Amino acid sequence: MEEVGITGGRGAPASSEAVIDLSAIAGNAAVARRLTSAAVMAVVKANAFGHGAVPVARAALAGGASWLGVASPAEALLLRNAGIEAPILAWLFHPSRDLRAAVCGDIQLSVSSAGHMGAVVAAARATGRTVAVHLKIDTGMARGGAAPEDWPDLVRTAYLHERAGLIDVRGVWSHLADSDDPVAALVPRQVARFEAAVALAERVGLRPSVRHLANSSAALHHPGTHFDMVRFGIGLYGVEPVPDHPTGLRGAMTLHAPIVQTRRVRAGTGVSYRHDYVTPTSTRLGLVPVGYADGLPRSASAHAQVWVGVERRPVAGRISMDQFVVDLGIRASEPDHVVVFGPGTGGEPTVAEWATWAGTIPHEVLTGIGARVRRRWIGAVPDLPPAACSEARHA
Ligand SMILES: *Cc1c(COP(=O)(O)O)cnc(C)c1O
Repeated sequence: MEEVGITGGRGAPASSEAVIDLSAIAGNAAVARRLTSAAVMAVVKANAFGHGAVPVARAALAGGASWLGVASPAEALLLRNAGIEAPILAWLFHPSRDLRAAVCGDIQLSVSSAGHMGAVVAAARATGRTVAVHLKIDTGMARGGAAPEDWPDLVRTAYLHERAGLIDVRGVWSHLADSDDPVAALVPRQVARFEAAVALAERVGLRPSVRHLANSSAALHHPGTHFDMVRFGIGLYGVEPVPDHPTGLRGAMTLHAPIVQTRRVRAGTGVSYRHDYVTPTSTRLGLVPVGYADGLPRSASAHAQVWVGVERRPVAGRISMDQFVVDLGIRASEPDHVVVFGPGTGGEPTVAEWATWAGTIPHEVLTGIGARVRRRWIGAVPDLPPAACSEARHA
């Protein structure tokens, strides 16, 4: 084989780069906003599905979201400490956790068990603040949330703590198991259980003003699940949760990478580990410095394609830890970079296609894009006013 040289220096990125279009984020929030009269919570956990929590949160708020949702209190505080003033809900933490910092940062907290209630009440006493909480009922997923048999005790305890000024039950919420399935057989059952749980909370004297159940697919396709707020995750990033029923979302992340070396090879050349790919013709191979350590699923190797400027070309052989090879074909002008995925509007693959090739969901591919891939944010988003300094209300 003959090595023909190093490419680059023609305006291509010198290293892999995820370009995040914040105007797409804002536009996707606006799509959700148009499809519901409920409030829109932008779900920005896991560094906004890999897109950058703080810039994405600002863009989503500019686009019409009015709440932010994250898994951990630490993720919530990162947003608050960046000066974001919107209400933020954090829903996943161990009951032994010290929640004082979250409470002082005005983070609203999910409560799904007596243990979580204990942690929240301890933080309320320690800080002198009333903690805004959202009680979580399990309506049929058997993941998080209070079991139906524990719900009566949980709402009664909540009512007593609310009367004592320790908590303010702002929300009641749950999560759907199959709203992205075209059949969505569980949705009506979960809605009925949710309504019963809310009714019980109201019967003991609670007045939750933010009842929320819907994720992206339910926000876009099941209006009966909207209640007071929808939690918009994957849709915010431009992935249609029900691909057969597009709603006008735009992919926000484009993953570019340079070609750092090319070489001409004969037909019949085995490429990468175990020679899973054998060149069908005489061709040129390009080396791309992105691998499974950067989040490109190795399991997609056999099917994956990338965009090389004028057409899609196949990934040749197994994706390695740091790199993969693309079969460029014989071309008049040599490309100096590839688009791994993007919104799909220019012919490039989408993250949904990568997920299909890998036998997974787009969420996993997006959140897996690693720290070695530099992020660059583009797209005009109006500035939000800076956060005012709020005085601590506790001793
Ligand atoms: C991640 C998450 C979401 C977002 O789900 P999508 O299907 O991505 O919209 C909503 N609610 C909860 C509780 C979550 O953990």
